[in-house]
Amino acid sequence: MRWERGRRSGNVEDRRGQGGGFGRGGGFGGRGLRIGGRGGLGLGGIAIVVVLGLLFGVDPRLLLGMVDGGGGGYGPVPGQEQEVGLGPATGPGADPAQDELAEFVKVTLAYTEDVWNPLFARQGLDYQEPVLVLFSGMVESGCGRAQAAMGPFYCPLDERLYIDLDFYRELRSRLGAPGDFAQAYVIAHEVGHHVQNLLDISDQVQEARQRLPEAEANALSVRLELQADCLAGVWAHHAQAQLGVLEPGDIEEALAAAAAVGDDRLQRRAGGAVVPDSFTHGSSEQRAGWFGRGLEEGTMEACDTFAEEAGPAR
Ligand SMILES: [Zn+2]
Repeated sequence: MRWERGRRSGNVEDRRGQGGGFGRGGGFGGRGLRIGGRGGLGLGGIAIVVVLGLLFGVDPRLLLGMVDGGGGGYGPVPGQEQEVGLGPATGPGADPAQDELAEFVKVTLAYTEDVWNPLFARQGLDYQEPVLVLFSGMVESGCGRAQAAMGPFYCPLDERLYIDLDFYRELRSRLGAPGDFAQAYVIAHEVGHHVQNLLDISDQVQEARQRLPEAEANALSVRLELQADCLAGVWAHHAQAQLGVLEPGDIEEALAAAAAVGDDRLQRRAGGAVVPDSFTHGSSEQRAGWFGRGLEEGTMEACDTFAEEAGPAR
């Protein structure tokens, strides 16, 4: 990706080296996270709203204590005391390679602002730019305390993206998805969740989940995840059209990253059989497929992962 001379976003909050060791046992927002019990739309209602072009909100897995990156297991864990390490010494200035990565993140976030501002404006909507928090080790988010090992995530309650730069090393070495555009895809996916949140039918998705059996609720989560992948593709489409950011091999890098974090592959890596009902992100094929579709079409309408014909195995 071309980025070195790109604009740096002013919306990056660098909390590296703070380790999240402060606020132990306290935190904010982790306690008493309530999931609304109001009426809300069924799956059919959601599909209709989506067709109208108003898409989604909260990443329900986050509210339910799961996050992106496939690590699972992170949760607000209200009231639970944990041993809080200080994290690696990776504050700003401690590691030149990481500082360069931080610059890359600032430029990528700026590219998402440059794309989503006009896309929203075109629909008469106001894009509220999210803040991206860089952290190391552990972080207190509006959705509770998060550990780096669990992967990047978006917290809809404070509208912030949280990324530990060490995750990129994981992506490169352990998950086999190297390249800067693989890294950009991760940010674009989380920004996709922010877009879903701004378009504000998160409550409906969440409420529908509450009334569904586990397998169907998971299927709904998968569709939300796949939509974030598709929105990442929409971003890539416009980033190329407006800013000409792509270099040869970039798309392959993003597709590889989308596939690398598919649930089936992560589950196989974990040594288990693949159990589709427990998927919350979508298979490798689905994730890469929806990213590709967003990339090709470049429209929000292309990202209706909730439509019947979108099917479970697209
Ligand atoms: Zn996600």
